[in-house]
Amino acid sequence: MFSLFYGLWKYAFSKTEFHVLILGIDKAGKTTVLEKLKSQYCNVEGLPADRIVPTVGLNIGRVELSNTKLIFWDLGGQPGLRSIWEKYYEEAHAVIYVVDAASPSRFEDSKSALEKVLQHEDLQGAPLLIIANKQDRAEAASAEELSRYLDLKKLDERLYTFQAVSAIDGLGIKESVNWLVDAMERSKRTEMLRVRAGSSSV
Ligand code: GDP
Repeated sequence: MFSLFYGLWKYAFSKTEFHVLILGIDKAGKTTVLEKLKSQYCNVEGLPADRIVPTVGLNIGRVELSNTKLIFWDLGGQPGLRSIWEKYYEEAHAVIYVVDAASPSRFEDSKSALEKVLQHEDLQGAPLLIIANKQDRAEAASAEELSRYLDLKKLDERLYTFQAVSAIDGLGIKESVNWLVDAMERSKRTEMLRVRAGSSSV
């Protein structure tokens, strides 16, 4: 009987936990996005932009919403570090892909790295939020322009969107999180990960 009540209590009060990968080539603004997320949702000051150093391993950020817990994994984006990304794919519920929208000369590199991510079978069906970052800069491409440029094929039934963001001033951060949570709650991949976690704990 106790275990029945405990199970019901746990069901009613425990928060759903989602793992979100933050990917993108180096200097796109991944860590700055993570720091802005933390400062907007955790009542803590994120690191000031001038103290953010290039990610070599992994930065982790935890954000709690009313009934959801988000764990963000921010991975280094230099070419030599991109092979590490796939070690995290299996456990990820969704992907944030950050693009420096003010650096058109790096769009091609960004596009081919993203295409590789999308082709990986361990990420099948993971909702994808593409951030057109650095909107505070006058030369930044809009989210629409970036989507035309990336011209992504093979998105199949994946839930995805483009969002204009400035990680420096916080534009578009809340919209990004709202979209992500909704997409992960609706995603078949979330159900698949839940079933897998349940069966491995038996
Ligand atoms: P990462 O390598 O993708 O993690 O990139 P970082 O977060 O380290 O940022 C790379 C550089 O871009 C740093 O100098 C940041 O201050 C700058 N940066 C990041 N986001 C923005 C933004 O929204 N606007 C502007 N103007 N600069 C940004």
